[in-house]
Amino acid sequence: MKKIGVLTSGGDAPGMNAAIRAVVRKAIYHNIEVYGISRGYQGLIEGDIRKMEIGSVGDIIHRGGTMLRTARCLEFKTEEGQLKGIEQLNKHGIEGLVVIGGDGSYQGAQALTRRGYPCVGVPGTIDNDIPGTDFTIGFDTALNTVIDAIDKIRDTATSHERTYVVEVMGRNCGDIALWAGLAGGAETILCPENEHEIKDLTAKLKRGQERGKKHSIIVVAEGVGSAVDIGREIEEMTKFDTRVTVLGHVQRGGSPTASDRVLASRLGALAVELLMDGKGGRAVGIVANQLVDYDINETLVNNHTIDQKMYKLSEELSI
Ligand code: ADP
Repeated sequence: MKKIGVLTSGGDAPGMNAAIRAVVRKAIYHNIEVYGISRGYQGLIEGDIRKMEIGSVGDIIHRGGTMLRTARCLEFKTEEGQLKGIEQLNKHGIEGLVVIGGDGSYQGAQALTRRGYPCVGVPGTIDNDIPGTDFTIGFDTALNTVIDAIDKIRDTATSHERTYVVEVMGRNCGDIALWAGLAGGAETILCPENEHEIKDLTAKLKRGQERGKKHSIIVVAEGVGSAVDIGREIEEMTKFDTRVTVLGHVQRGGSPTASDRVLASRLGALAVELLMDGKGGRAVGIVANQLVDYDINETLVNNHTIDQKMYKLSEELSI
């Protein structure tokens, strides 16, 4: 391949810029031209495409968000939209495409692959919900944002002797809640992958109070339901002074951590290597600290699951 394209799609994640930079620089290093497609599949359909140079990706490695912008594009779910996209790629002589995004974006890449156009998926989402990789780009940064918030909440929870319910993102995946809950020393973690009874939760809170605990922090993944409702139920059942914090989109921004920058650089470069070898229809990831690539269709049939041993550990450490 002599010309490749790169786009970011769906929800943004810190580290996407580092991945774009890696794709562009790795390709240019190997004398391959790179084209940046703005605003995901929407920009692809509209032909919002421009050539990238070494300097195009200067000074972005430390920035959150995505310099290529991102979008959600309903039209790309249709045959017509996908054919328009392929037409644009062919018009520019682009022979392969790197798609940086979450599972929705992967489905777009799968659709292009089915139509014979080579794509490689790079997992960029804070949710860590893509099967086939231990970590997605952005997860570590989001996690550190959540920990920072939980530590601050802990200060005020202790001062006021309150119970705090903290809602975190992750869509249907409990990884942010589990990792942040464990790292933040939460009393209880509610993940969508596991069943929870409010009465068990409140019993645990009461046991904690009986042994002199002054405050409690409960981390709730957004996929479980509304933290506001859960907070209300807890207050009704325990009569404890309870507050709810929904962290929201602060979790999606910020300068990527070193870990996310390194992951993004490694995965972005690997995506280019695959296209250089003429391999499309792949997704890249990291498993046990080794870079891997696999059939992108596997992401459709498998589900990412939380580490139940780690969940059990979080329970054992928060008795
Ligand atoms: P994320 O990639 O973060 O999961 P979305 O689920 O919003 O975000 O997906 C991003 C975009 O990927 C969608 O707006 C759409 O353009 C494209 N996409 C999602 N599902 C499909 C599909 N089944 N076929 C083709 N394109 C899709």
